Amino acid sequence: MTTYTRKTFDEVMIQNYVPADFIPVKGKGSRVWDQQGREYIDFSGGIAVNALGHCPEDIVAVLRRQGETLWHSSNWFTSEPTLALASELVAHTFAERVMFANSGAEANEAALKLARRYAVDHFGYQKSKVISFKQSFHGRTLFTVSVGGQPKYSDGFGPKPGDILHVEFNNLDTVKAVIDDHTCAVIVEPIQGESGVIPAEPEFLQGLRELCDQYSALLIFDEVQTGVGRTGYLYAYQHYGVTPDILTSAKALANGFPISAMLTTDKIAASFKPGVHGTTFGGNPLACAVGAKVVETIARPEFLQGVQQRSVLFKQALRELNGQFGLFCDIRGEGLLIGAELIEKYRGQASHFVKAAAAQGVMILQAGPNVLRFTPALNISEQDIRCGIERLALALAEF
Ligand SMILES: *Cc1c(COP(=O)(O)O)cnc(C)c1O
Repeated sequence: MTTYTRKTFDEVMIQNYVPADFIPVKGKGSRVWDQQGREYIDFSGGIAVNALGHCPEDIVAVLRRQGETLWHSSNWFTSEPTLALASELVAHTFAERVMFANSGAEANEAALKLARRYAVDHFGYQKSKVISFKQSFHGRTLFTVSVGGQPKYSDGFGPKPGDILHVEFNNLDTVKAVIDDHTCAVIVEPIQGESGVIPAEPEFLQGLRELCDQYSALLIFDEVQTGVGRTGYLYAYQHYGVTPDILTSAKALANGFPISAMLTTDKIAASFKPGVHGTTFGGNPLACAVGAKVVETIARPEFLQGVQQRSVLFKQALRELNGQFGLFCDIRGEGLLIGAELIEKYRGQASHFVKAAAAQGVMILQAGPNVLRFTPALNISEQDIRCGIERLALALAEF
C-alpha cells in the first residue's frame, strides 16, 4: 500500500499552497486526527466552512441518501434539492431569487456580472464603475481578484478588467469622492475576513446603502465568510439592519460540500435571462440536499442564539489568555468569526503562532500577517473551547 506523506505534496502538487506539516485524516465534531493519530481541537473550521463540525451525523445521512438517489442532472433539468435550498434561502432572507454556483469566487463573479448587466439593461453601457475596498477579498477569478483590494493577489496576470476603484473601508468620505451616476455597484464584506477580521461600522454600511440608492448603484454584500450563522445571525446584514441588493454566500453553505449562492430581488434577477450566465455543477442535487439541511439547521433561532453564547465564551477565554500573556492588542469580530491582533513586537509573525498552536494540538488560522483568526464550528462544545484554549495557552507561552 502506498503511503502518502507531506513530502508527496511537494513532489506532485502545484506549489501554490504551503499546507501544515501534518495531514489530517479524520474529523468528528470539533476534533481532528492526523496520520499519526494525534488529536487536534479544530478552531479553524476549514476556514469558516465546517459550521456544524466534521461529519455531523444528520448531514452525513442526507449526503448518503442523496448519494444513492441523484448526484447531478445539469441545469437543463432542475432538481428537488435545488428548489428546497433556494426556498430555504428565500424564506429566511430579503431575497426573492437564488442562483447557485460552486465557490465564493463564482458567486461574486455572478454578482458582479449581474450588476454590470442590470446597469446595461436599465441605464446603458456607461454605467460600469465598480467600487470596492482596500484590503477586501472576493475570490481569485480574474474579475473577483481585481475587484478585491489586495494588489499582491491581482498583480502579475496581465491586463485587469476595467472600471474598478478601491477606496478606504469604513471611510464613507472616500466613497462619496468617487461614486457617481456611472457607478453600477459597490461591493463590501460586512466583516473583512481575510484581511484581519475587521467589522464594518454600522453607519458605514448604512451610508453605503444611502449612496447606492442616490446613484442607482447596486449594493453587493459579500457574505461568503460572514454568512450561514457565522456572526450569530443567518446573514450579517440582518445584524446590521442594512439590506443589500445582492448577497453572496458560500463557505459554510453545505458544511464543506462545495456550493455557493447568489441572492437577489425579482427585479434585479430579471437581468439574468436564459443563457446570460451559467455553470455546469452549480445547484446540483447532491450539494443542494446537503445545503438545505445545513441552512434549515442553522437558521433556527435557538441555534443562532447558541452561536452568540459561544462567542461570549470564546472571546472571554481569549481575553483571559491575553491577561496572562499580553500578546494581543485587540480581540474583535462577531459571533464565531474572531480575530486577535498581535502586538507591535510580534507583527508579521501570525504564521509562527499558527504553527506553534498546531504543535500543541489546536488548529487555528491567520488573517493576514498580524491577526490570529478563530472560526470554529458553530456548535463547538464548551468543553472543546476550553480544551483548545488550554492548548493555545501552551503555544502562546513559548513566545
Ligand atoms: C473565501 C472568500 C471568498 C472566496 O471564496 P472561494 O470559495 O475560495 O472562491 C470570497 N469572499 C470572501 C469574503 C471570502 O471569505
